[in-house]
Amino acid sequence: MFGMVGRGRARPALRVAAAAMLAALAGCAGRSPPAPVPASPASPPPGMQYLYGSAEAAALDVQAFGMLTAFVERQAERRASVVLAADASPDGTAFTACGDRPPAVVFDMDETLVLNLGYEMLEGRSGKGFDADRWSRWEQADGAALAPLPGAVEAVAALRRRGVTPIVNTNRAAASAAAAEVALARVGLGAFRHGETLFLAGDVDGQRGKDGRRQEIARRFCVIAMVGDQLGDFSDGFRGDPAARRALATAPAIARLWGQGWFVLPNPVYGSGLAGDWDAVFPADKRWTDPVEGQGK
Ligand SMILES: [Mg+2]
Repeated sequence: MFGMVGRGRARPALRVAAAAMLAALAGCAGRSPPAPVPASPASPPPGMQYLYGSAEAAALDVQAFGMLTAFVERQAERRASVVLAADASPDGTAFTACGDRPPAVVFDMDETLVLNLGYEMLEGRSGKGFDADRWSRWEQADGAALAPLPGAVEAVAALRRRGVTPIVNTNRAAASAAAAEVALARVGLGAFRHGETLFLAGDVDGQRGKDGRRQEIARRFCVIAMVGDQLGDFSDGFRGDPAARRALATAPAIARLWGQGWFVLPNPVYGSGLAGDWDAVFPADKRWTDPVEGQGK
């Protein structure tokens, strides 16, 4: 449903809005606006400024990875799975069994372990939208224009020292498995092996949804934590409009997992969190009218 290509993208309208604003400003100046949309915005869209450039996002990342490390220190002996059972819905509480399987933590890759700086700057400056073919070429690149998320390298190393296996479950294409292994190692995250500790789109069940791969990983490991920037990194069950997804994510059965087995990272640039019109985002009973300016438009 959301995002059938690349990283599960639902594109924001940021560049469209910026172009419209520029055109309006040009109109205010009393001149005819230039026909072509500016090819290279003067600065990155706000979401990119935040995710790739801000201290605030870096602090959130370090915070999440630090909480993960502390959680694993507490949980490695207790060994409780945080993968929802195959027949469980996101508002349920049933988890896969651990048995005597070795402990593991499952990570998404993009904007969870690595920041796609090279790709995103190219896309942001070009003014073009997401393109699946361009993204495929990026997946095959050498990883020199990637950076690890702040805190990720230290957290993954701490897991390994603790005897906990880090595993990547990504929607990069299976054809990019070798390049993904190289890229993860290059940014300092160590060795991942396709089919063992690295699972890609279509692996296991041929699906883009990650539940099938999660179930397979849980058959091999005791998954004590999961980390991602999209709710699909935790369960494929977070469907519906923004209000429905928020209700699911904050229902008691799921709310107790955030920071306690499920660790979520910010992504204001792309993905399932970027959806909803005015009515979907702002509840009808929470409107305000400025006594001076009125309702606005
Ligand atoms: Mg991601």
